[in-house]
Amino acid sequence: MGVMRYEGSVYRPPSEADSLILQATLGCSYNRCTYCAMYRAKRFRPRDLDELREDMDLAASVYGPRGVRRVFLADGDALILRTARLLEILGDLRARFPGLGRVSVYASPQSLLAKSTDEIRELTAAGLSMYYLGPESGHPVVLERIAKGVTREQLVDGARRVVDAGAKLSVMLLLGVGGVELSHEHAVASGTLITEMQPRFVSTLTVTPVPGTPFADEVASGRLVLPDDRALLREQRTMIEHMDCRAVYRGNHASNMLPVGGTLPADKPKLLALLEHAANDESVRLRPRVSPDRL
Ligand code: SF4
Repeated sequence: MGVMRYEGSVYRPPSEADSLILQATLGCSYNRCTYCAMYRAKRFRPRDLDELREDMDLAASVYGPRGVRRVFLADGDALILRTARLLEILGDLRARFPGLGRVSVYASPQSLLAKSTDEIRELTAAGLSMYYLGPESGHPVVLERIAKGVTREQLVDGARRVVDAGAKLSVMLLLGVGGVELSHEHAVASGTLITEMQPRFVSTLTVTPVPGTPFADEVASGRLVLPDDRALLREQRTMIEHMDCRAVYRGNHASNMLPVGGTLPADKPKLLALLEHAANDESVRLRPRVSPDRL
């Protein structure tokens, strides 16, 4: 849905491709993760409610009130807004779009920890039913190195608030983010993190150093060595092996070399076998790496 006026680059999860993107906030209130280039150029601020209503009216006139079924609240962590403000936005959306099915949002760990389970329950009842969380790793050292700003325990705490509130949680992990040095440990700790969180959706993306980020500097200087293609597949296999959950798993992002996916736990043996085979057989063709500007 692309006729809206947007400030700066707009990002959304791949599964929100057909959603109306509404910029409830600009930038990311945290903005310190070392690998993230999404909002470096933007200063965080909540959007003015009247401006937001104008955006909603514009969307209603372009797509028709019944033409908007899904809305994604951007930018990086719109969940950081006060609950009362979010409820107001959700009410405004429902008033304009009677066919609205679901509203979703990126949930930074910091924004989740600022909300109680009851608040998330209230938001979910008002339509905000899908939360995308990107811990990227479950390993304490990796979390510190990428400056996630929270501990593993805090990540689990935030995630459980969503799950306990009965909302849908989608968790994203980053293959390769621990480098060669912590590849195996990162894989095990990220798999068990999923077991503790019990999300409805899990996806693994491959870390792509974006020029201008501290992460890319570490790679360029040789302080961090990224695992090669086959090592990344082994990492992915170990990660899935340690996930004990009922979830839809996706490993088919543009950054992934071998597009795979399925339902856990039913497809786990198949996924493990596929990844094992691809990791050990050089004749298995992998997708070329994509440049950061194509992600
Ligand atoms: S919380 Fe998300 S949007 Fe904000 S800096 Fe980290 S990865 Fe980027």
